[in-house]
Amino acid sequence: MPALAARPEADALGAALERLAARFGPRLSTSKAVREQHASTLTWVEPQPPDAVVFPETTEETAEIVSVCSGHGVPVVPFGTGTSFEGHVNAPYGGVSISTARMDAVVAVHAEDLDVVVQPGVTRKRLNEHLRDQGLFFPIDPGADASLGGMASTRASGTNAVRYGTMKDNVLGLTAVLPSGEIIRTGGRARKSSAGYDLTRLLVGAEGTLGVITELTLRLQGIPEAIAAGVCPFPTVEAACDATIATIQSGLPVARIELLDEVQIRAVNLYSKLALPEVPTLFLEFHGTEEGVKEQSARFGEIARELGGGPFDWATRAEDRTRLWAARHDAFWAALALRPGARCVPTDVCVPISRLAECVAETKRDIARSGVVSPIVGHVGDGNFHCQPLFDMSDPAEVATGQAFLGRLVERAIAMGGTCTGEHGVGQAKMKYLEAEHGRGALDAMRAIKRALDPLNIMNPGKIVTP
Ligand SMILES: Cc1cc2nc3c(=O)[nH]c(=O)nc-3n(C[C@H](O)[C@H](O)[C@H](O)COP(=O)(O)OP(=O)(O)OC[C@H]3O[C@@H](n4cnc5c(N)ncnc54)[C@H](O)[C@@H]3O)c2cc1C
Repeated sequence: MPALAARPEADALGAALERLAARFGPRLSTSKAVREQHASTLTWVEPQPPDAVVFPETTEETAEIVSVCSGHGVPVVPFGTGTSFEGHVNAPYGGVSISTARMDAVVAVHAEDLDVVVQPGVTRKRLNEHLRDQGLFFPIDPGADASLGGMASTRASGTNAVRYGTMKDNVLGLTAVLPSGEIIRTGGRARKSSAGYDLTRLLVGAEGTLGVITELTLRLQGIPEAIAAGVCPFPTVEAACDATIATIQSGLPVARIELLDEVQIRAVNLYSKLALPEVPTLFLEFHGTEEGVKEQSARFGEIARELGGGPFDWATRAEDRTRLWAARHDAFWAALALRPGARCVPTDVCVPISRLAECVAETKRDIARSGVVSPIVGHVGDGNFHCQPLFDMSDPAEVATGQAFLGRLVERAIAMGGTCTGEHGVGQAKMKYLEAEHGRGALDAMRAIKRALDPLNIMNPGKIVTP
């Protein structure tokens, strides 16, 4: 069978769907509403619904679905909760979306080893609710209540990554169904392994283009004895970024350090009913002992003061922290509410920390020059920030201006030694930047891996690389 480069023949698709319907009954849906729900893209990427959505409950059922699709040359698109931003779950060639919604069991908690085994449809909030009584938590927090399978597949990170790393640092092992329908296990529960190629890290960040993850073993952390959070205003974004750089370079073990520029603060004030001064602001969190968080907060306060920021207000009461972080997590929805009717394109880039202030400042100047409305918000401790530009999609000139702005943002980040995406991933929308970032040779190596594991190109085709 030739590698898929277009929609499969109607006969092949029909035969595959007939077999899957006979096997999965009501757990296969071809209804328009369900198909559309599995192609929602949240941004300006046009939705491209699959032909059917199927809801397996086990690894073996997932393998059966993939085998049927492989046998008929029908595309498979893995689906978690659909919160990704770059057209990741679109089905440009149609096919079958495999939803992991019913694969939502916490299989085993190994408290003594600080790890947990989960099915991919467990969401991060549900996992943390399950773990709370044991004094444990899973730190990766992309804001949205995403599935752990989806988070592994986009190599997600978010607010806590500056302290605890990203999904690449927190997935110890996986079970996955390859495009052939074969089931493999990668990694394990040992903290370290030098045994052969690191297939876990290959699948983490593969965006479902190399297989469907059906089980994950994740690292856990103990809930810290004390947590302090606070906000610190700055006169300019440069000063806020310089304070971030100084904080990281001084080795202060900050757990979260998030920049909201003055436009994003205005949006958050309106949306979350806060009354923060409308200036660039850092939201911070420290984890440790009672004494430790006091010391860290005091040390950060000094750094901020030296760079013209402050006062640094901090709180240890859980409800104050929750209110603050809820507002931060609603930053995307707050941005959208700034311009009713507009589409928001929440893009992310990441640069080495020493270039952060320069990159954010140059981006602010670009926003002013091009007349784009774009709040900036970012996990700046990692050199990672998001622009959330808002566009009127009925105005072609505005859309063209927006596209040019996004292109310049990526070029700027890559020119500074950074990346076109620190955490959201490539999907459909960022494929065009990969050669500039990695070079032809590395891109060819990615294509060779894709061809080796997915010779028919059925696994989430049209994402990351064209084989
Ligand atoms: C308000 C908001 C804020 C966000 N903030 C952040 C942030 O701070 N940091 C961040 O990293 N992201 C952020 N995101 C983006 C998003 O939450 C992440 O990309 C998340 O990891 C997607 O998970 P999901 O379950 O929704 O995956 P989906 O969107 O369903 O899928 C994402 C990709 O993973 C693949 N996939 C899903 N499940 C599997 C599986 N079991 N096996 C193989 N492939 C699979 C899909 O095919 C697709 O390519 C945010 C999103 C929103 C809406």
